[in-house]
Amino acid sequence: MQFCVLITLLTCFAFSRGASVAQEGIEKQDERVRYDNYAVYKINYDNSIQRQLLLQLVKRHESFSLWHDSPTEIHLMVSPLALSEFERNLIRANATAEIFLANVQNLIDNETEANAKATSSFGWTRYHNLAEIEAWLDDILATYPDVTEGFVVGKSYEGRNIRGIKISYKADNPGVFIESNIHAREWITSATATWFINELLSSTDDLIRDLAENHDWYIVPVLNVDGFVYTHEKDRLWRKTRQPSSISSCVGVDPNRNYDVHWMENGGASDDPCALDYAGPHPFSEPEIKAMSEYLGSIKDKVNVFLAFHSYAQLLLSPYGHTAEKFPDNFDDMMKVAKAYADAVGAMPYGTIYNYSSAADILYPASGATNDWAYQEGIRISYTVEFRDRGRFAFVLPPAFIIPNAEEVLIGIIALIDECKKLGYLNLK
Ligand SMILES: [Zn+2]
Repeated sequence: MQFCVLITLLTCFAFSRGASVAQEGIEKQDERVRYDNYAVYKINYDNSIQRQLLLQLVKRHESFSLWHDSPTEIHLMVSPLALSEFERNLIRANATAEIFLANVQNLIDNETEANAKATSSFGWTRYHNLAEIEAWLDDILATYPDVTEGFVVGKSYEGRNIRGIKISYKADNPGVFIESNIHAREWITSATATWFINELLSSTDDLIRDLAENHDWYIVPVLNVDGFVYTHEKDRLWRKTRQPSSISSCVGVDPNRNYDVHWMENGGASDDPCALDYAGPHPFSEPEIKAMSEYLGSIKDKVNVFLAFHSYAQLLLSPYGHTAEKFPDNFDDMMKVAKAYADAVGAMPYGTIYNYSSAADILYPASGATNDWAYQEGIRISYTVEFRDRGRFAFVLPPAFIIPNAEEVLIGIIALIDECKKLGYLNLK
């Protein structure tokens, strides 16, 4: 085993100016949370003892934030105030660290600048806020009234409507449901979902016309509306809902740990209200998730395939999330379908590689996720799809990557649906 701590850590001390005025690890200015000189490290490790030592750091929420967790590496955002503690713990854990992002605020600033420069019209060369996405959705519904229908999943904690669009060209189509932006900071998901809606309605390509017209599409571009607004107005890296806790000053729940499906089993979520993967005080505690379960539950007999859009990691995750000890009875089919997606994406000129397995198998147990709940409700093909990238830009993927990501998701979904058809999963229920 290597005994090595990369000296890249030292480079960050040069940037410690902002740290002297930081409060609780996060400097605030103009009401927005700032991440000046917060760095993201990729840490490779060999065994579970090392991992446990490193994850202990995450309990200090204000200084360390876990961005990615897999059996070979974790990605950790570190406050400039906590670098020496981080270094000490790396030595203790005998682990290797490599810097991924030297200053998270720079990425956020670049993104803000790109958004400000753009034209006022809706497009996919920048990221849009909720009001812009909803205005665009209204335009789409008005432009294609014969084949689209707006729907409301329900209301968020802060009273916003959670909106969706159904696209249906004819009766008796199999159904595909797409949930997007359940995690607030994963902006690439709603950007991709809106691009995908536009392609289904406007493309003249034969493959896309077949996809659009021979399936019914239910698409919710932004499920976690309160969290999404918060990422635009206050904190770009917010993940959770915005409902306060009755037992803590920490706000919000991880909505993708809040479904009533093996809730809190096997350490698949946290009971700490300050944790990023807090499961909530009880299943369906979040109004958004209760509403989503009721809406999806009401149409589940029309839905053959469920996809939840997330970032980042380039993975297709099938049930189960809560245990790697047990696999669904049609797991082999789900792997064939995932392989079809990954092969199609991998064959594109971008060469983006997706891996696939059950969530618990390829990562660590994660309980109470939408795709597990959808599977439990009888939707036999159900994935969490983690988009680009693998940590280079992570949650702040520059807008230049929106269209490449969306193009490969479209090609992947065409292949995925085709494989579902071959295996008999698109028969009407
Ligand atoms: Zn996510």
